[in-house]
Amino acid sequence: MIPSLAREAAAGAVWCSREHTPYARRRDTAVERALRADGRTLHPMLGIYLSDFDEIRKADGDPYRIYSPFARAAKAAAWDDPLLAPSRVQVPEALGPAGRSTDEGLWTGEGWEAGLAVDGAVGITPPDPAVALERLRWFVERGVDGYGRSRNYMGIDGTSRLSPYLRFGLISSRQVAAVVGRGGRAAEHPRRAGDRETFVNELLWRDFYGYVLYHQPESAWEHMRPEFARFEFEDDPEGLAAWREGRTGYPLVDAGMRQLTGQGWVHNRARMVVASFLTKHLLIDWREGARFFLQHLVDGDLSSNNGGWQWVAGTGTDAAPYDRIFNPVTQAEKFDPDGDYIRRWVPELSKLDPPAIFAPWRANPAALEKAGVRLGTNYPHPIVDHITGRNRALARFQESTSRHS
Ligand code: FAD
Repeated sequence: MIPSLAREAAAGAVWCSREHTPYARRRDTAVERALRADGRTLHPMLGIYLSDFDEIRKADGDPYRIYSPFARAAKAAAWDDPLLAPSRVQVPEALGPAGRSTDEGLWTGEGWEAGLAVDGAVGITPPDPAVALERLRWFVERGVDGYGRSRNYMGIDGTSRLSPYLRFGLISSRQVAAVVGRGGRAAEHPRRAGDRETFVNELLWRDFYGYVLYHQPESAWEHMRPEFARFEFEDDPEGLAAWREGRTGYPLVDAGMRQLTGQGWVHNRARMVVASFLTKHLLIDWREGARFFLQHLVDGDLSSNNGGWQWVAGTGTDAAPYDRIFNPVTQAEKFDPDGDYIRRWVPELSKLDPPAIFAPWRANPAALEKAGVRLGTNYPHPIVDHITGRNRALARFQESTSRHS
C-alpha cells in the first residue's frame, strides 16, 4: 500500500518512524525495495524510542547487555526533543485539499496547556491520539508527583497508563519524556525531580528491551542465559489453565490474571507477581506466559513483554536473581494494603477484610462464612503451597546450574 500511495501522491521519498522488531525490519526492507523499484527512497527516522540503538555501544563497540550502563549511556547521548509539527503541509490534490493542516495528534510538547482541553483520568483503550495527550496532561498535572512511590500500589491510578499509546505510536516516547522528564513543570518542582527521573528511567527500560531485541533478535523466544538451555520445566496443563483463568487460589495472582483477560492492561507489579508465580511456583516455561500475555495485552509488545518475562524468570542477561521469588501474599499486604485491587478483580472475595483477603485459607471460618466465601466451592484452595513451590523451584535451579557447569 505504501508504494502505491507514494506513486499516487507523486512523492519523491517516504519518511517513517523506524521500528526494530524482527517483523518490522522484514516489512520495512520489503517496502524499501518496492519503493526503490519506483525510484523512491525510504527514510526511517528515530522517534519510537528515546535512544539511537546503533549509536549506543560499549567502548569495545559491543552492545550493552545490562540496563544501568545502557541507561547511563542513553542519557549521556541526550536525545533530541521532538520538533513542533509543521502548521501546514502541502498535500497533493490527489489526496485532498492542498495545504490541509496537520493532524493535531502531532502536538509535540510546547504550549501543552493550551493543546489539551479535556480534563480527568481516562480509560485506556480508545485508540485516539487526543486521548493519549489528555492522559499525558493528567499525568503531568496530577500523576507524576509522587510517582516513585505511587507506581507500586496496584489499587490506585498511580502510573501513566500510557503503554498502549506508546505501543501503537499514538504518542511518542520522546514527546512523553520531553513533557514529563524535562519540560512541563519540571523546573518549578526541583524537589520532585526524583519522580520525573524515575519515570524517565522506566521509559528507558522500554528502550533497553527494544535495544536488546534489536541486537539479539533470537532473545525474543530463546533463554538469554545458556544455563537454562536444559532447564526442566514442568508440563502442567492444569496449573497453566488455573493460572490463565485466575483461579490459583492466591487472590493477588488471580486479580492480576483477571485484569489481564478482563481489561487487557495489568499493573506492573501484578505482572511481576503473576509471572513469578507461573515460572517459579508452577515451574512452567516463561514462554507459555509470554505468549498468553501477548494475546491479551493492549500494550503487548514483543520486546518489553518477552524482556519482562525473561527478567522475572531469571533467564535474561540483566534479570532478577533466580531466587527472587515473589510471595503473592506479602506482595498484596505491602502493595494492595486495603485489598482494593483484589476486591475489584476477585469479587467473590470482596466482602473479606485485610488480612483475610490476602490469604483466605488462613482466615478464620466464621469470617469466611460471613463474607460468603466457601473455599473449594466458590473460591479455590491454593493450587500450590508457597514454601513447597519455592523450595522446588530453588532445588530445580540448583540442579540445572550444577549440571550446566
Ligand atoms: P508507567 O509506570 O507509567 O511507565 C511509563 C512507561 O514506561 C510505560 O508506558 C512503558 O512504556 C515504560 N515502562 C515502564 N515500566 C517498564 C518495564 N518494566 N519494562 C519496559 N517498559 C516499561 N510493557 C509494555 O509496554 N508492553 C508489554 O507487553 C509488557 N509486558 C510485560 C510483561 C511482564 C512479565 C512485565 C514484568 C512487564 C511488562 N511490561 C510491558 C512493562 C510494564 O509492566 C508496563 O510497561 C507498565 O505496566 C505499563 O503501565 P504504565 O504505562 O502505566 O507505566
